Amino acid sequence: MTSVAIIGGGITGLTAAFELHRQGVPVTVYEASNRVGGVIESIRQDGFLAEFGPNTILETSPRIGQLINEAGLQSRRLDPDPQASARYVVRYKRPIEMPGSPLGFLTTQLFTAKAKLAVLREPFVPARRDGKEESVAEFVVRRLGREFLDHAIDALVAGVYAGDPAKLSVPQAFPKLAALEAQYGSLIKGQIFGARERKRRGEVAKDRAPKLSFDEGLQVLPETLRLRLGDAVKLRMTVKRLVRLSSGWRLELETGQSVEHRAVLFAGTAYKLAALEFQGEPAVSFRRFSEIEYPPVASVVLGFRREDVKHPCQGFGMLIPKIENFKILGTIFSSSLFPNRAPAGHLTLTSYVGGKRYPELAALSADQLYKLVCDDLRVLLGVTGKPVFAHSVFYPRAIPQYVVGYGAYREMMTEIEQKAPGLFLAGHYRDGISLSDSIVSGCKAADRIAASLKSAPSGNPQPDAAV
Ligand SMILES: Cc1cc2nc3c(=O)[nH]c(=O)nc-3n(C[C@H](O)[C@H](O)[C@H](O)COP(=O)(O)OP(=O)(O)OC[C@H]3O[C@@H](n4cnc5c(N)ncnc54)[C@H](O)[C@@H]3O)c2cc1C
Repeated sequence: MTSVAIIGGGITGLTAAFELHRQGVPVTVYEASNRVGGVIESIRQDGFLAEFGPNTILETSPRIGQLINEAGLQSRRLDPDPQASARYVVRYKRPIEMPGSPLGFLTTQLFTAKAKLAVLREPFVPARRDGKEESVAEFVVRRLGREFLDHAIDALVAGVYAGDPAKLSVPQAFPKLAALEAQYGSLIKGQIFGARERKRRGEVAKDRAPKLSFDEGLQVLPETLRLRLGDAVKLRMTVKRLVRLSSGWRLELETGQSVEHRAVLFAGTAYKLAALEFQGEPAVSFRRFSEIEYPPVASVVLGFRREDVKHPCQGFGMLIPKIENFKILGTIFSSSLFPNRAPAGHLTLTSYVGGKRYPELAALSADQLYKLVCDDLRVLLGVTGKPVFAHSVFYPRAIPQYVVGYGAYREMMTEIEQKAPGLFLAGHYRDGISLSDSIVSGCKAADRIAASLKSAPSGNPQPDAAV
C-alpha cells in the first residue's frame, strides 16, 4: 500500500487527490482553512449568487470535462447563455464591444485607423530571435503598437492577472503568444495556421474554449470533490514542516501532530511554500519563493434592479484600461452570463478593485468599496439606483505575477523535485494561473505521483491514525 499527502485543499490539491483516489491510491488532503476551494468562493443569498474568486472555468483540455463527469457533476454543469458572448473594453469613457471578426476589427471604434494599420502590419514585423525575455508591454508595442497596448492589452492583463504589462513576462505569463511568434513569426499567422495543430493535440485556444460553471456556482466543484473524498480531507490542518525519511516523508502540523506518507504534493500558494520548513539530506530551501508577488484584489458583487441600470449588460463583461482613469479593473455581467445569478427583474455585476494598478484600493472597507464601484458603474453603465445586494471579499494575496525572470522560480521547482524524490509541486504558482490550468496541473501531478509510486519499491508508511 502507498499513501500520499496533499497539502492544500484548493482546486489543484482536490483534483490531484480525487484522481489518485480513483486509481486506488490512498490520499489525505491537509487544508489549513476551515473550508475547501481555496480562492473559489460562491455564496447564495436573497436569490443572488455571488462568485468572489474565479467566475468561470475555461474548458481548454479534455481532462476538465472528464473530472466533471467522474465527479458526477454533469447534470449540475451550467453553460453560459450563447447571447452573452460579447466582451466590452472601455474607451472614451464607455464600453465598446470588442470586434469578433476581421470586418468588425476594421469598423470598430475601439481603435483609431493608425492602430488598425499597425495591427494589419503585424505579420510583416520580424520575429525577435536574440532570445531576450520581453515584458508583455515591450512585446505588444514591438508587434502591434502602443495604442493596442494602452487600449486593449493593458485591460486584458488587468482582467487576467490583475497585473502590470510592463512587469509580466511574455514567455512566462502568455507562453502561447511567445510560441506563436517563435513558430510562425507572427501572431496573426500563428492564429490562422496554429488552429489545426491545436485540434490535433485536443487543445482549445483560451479565446475559443467553452466556459462553464455550476448551478450553485464554482464552489460546487471543490465541495463535490471533498464529498467524494470523504474522511480523506482534513480541514484546519496547516503543514509547517516536511521531514525526509528513508522511505517517505513526515509532515509536522501546526497542531503538534505528525503524520507519515510515502509521497507529498504541495498544492498551496508560493508564499506558503516559502514558509514551509524542510529537514533532510540533501537540504532544500523554499525561501526564495517568498519573492513571488501576489497583489491584493477585492471582489465586489453588487445586485441592482434592472430598471436602475441603463446599459443592457448583455455579454461577458467589460475590461478597463488604466488610461481611462477609472478605479475598477473590470466588471463581469454575472447574471447575463449564467442563469439563476439574480432574482427576476434584477442583475448581478461583479467588479474587481486593486491589483498591481491600485493595490491600496483593494484594502478599503466594504462601504468604501461599494461607493467606489458604484461611482464608476454610474458613468460606465448608467447605474442610477442603490444596490439591493452588496458583498465583497478581500484577497490580500490574489494572483501570482509571472514577471520577467519567473522562469528561474520554475527551474528551482524542478530542481527541488529532483533533489527530493517523492516531493511534488503543482498548482497556480507553477503551471499557469487559471482555474483550468490548476485542474490540469492537479491531474498531471496525480499522473506523475501514480507513476513514481508504481516504479518505486514499497515499504510504505501509512497516515498517522491520530489525524
Ligand atoms: C479574485 C480572483 C479571481 C479569479 N478569476 C479567475 C477566473 O475567472 N477564471 C480562472 O480561470 N481563474 C481565475 N482566478 C485564478 C484561479 O481561481 C486560481 O488560480 C486557482 O483557483 C488556484 O487554485 P489552487 O488550488 O492552485 O490554489 P488556491 O486556491 O490558492 O488553494 C491553495 C490552498 O492551499 C492551502 N494551503 C496553503 N499552504 C498550506 C499549508 N502549509 N498547509 C495546509 N494547507 C495549505 C490554502 O489554505 C488554500 O486553501 C482568480 C483568482 C482570484 C484570486
